[in-house]
Amino acid sequence: MKIAAYGDLVQQRIQDNYCPFCEEPVTNYLDQNDTAYVMSARAPYKSDHVLVCSKSHHGSMTQLSTQELVDIRSLITKRNQILYDKHGELVIFVREGSVWGSTGKTVWHLHRHIVPHLTIHCGGTQADSDARVFMNDEQY
Ligand SMILES: [Zn+2]
Repeated sequence: MKIAAYGDLVQQRIQDNYCPFCEEPVTNYLDQNDTAYVMSARAPYKSDHVLVCSKSHHGSMTQLSTQELVDIRSLITKRNQILYDKHGELVIFVREGSVWGSTGKTVWHLHRHIVPHLTIHCGGTQADSDARVFMNDEQY
């Protein structure tokens, strides 16, 4: 079976109105509770990159119930401990906004990434990140 390039796959899924996180087989869950689950990223940035997803189809944190937020937090905490013990360095993030927008979001269904050893560079490079302006009290 041919493995599709991720960008092509995302574009096809948008055209088909297909949500991969609503269709993920339960047998692929690494962990779950009443309203959320953890899965390995299918297009990982790094080894052991996982996603924490709500079971309901929501695109923004503002749409999540209190119980969903509690359940997601619980799974993030558990998975964070497992991955931190293994890797010692993690980045946890969520993208809000549109698919193909400025954040790089490719699936509308809200999900948190937990990625070992990921470096976030402002502007795309370490040099750009190091060149950021640190505001003094007057500017701030
Ligand atoms: Zn969905």
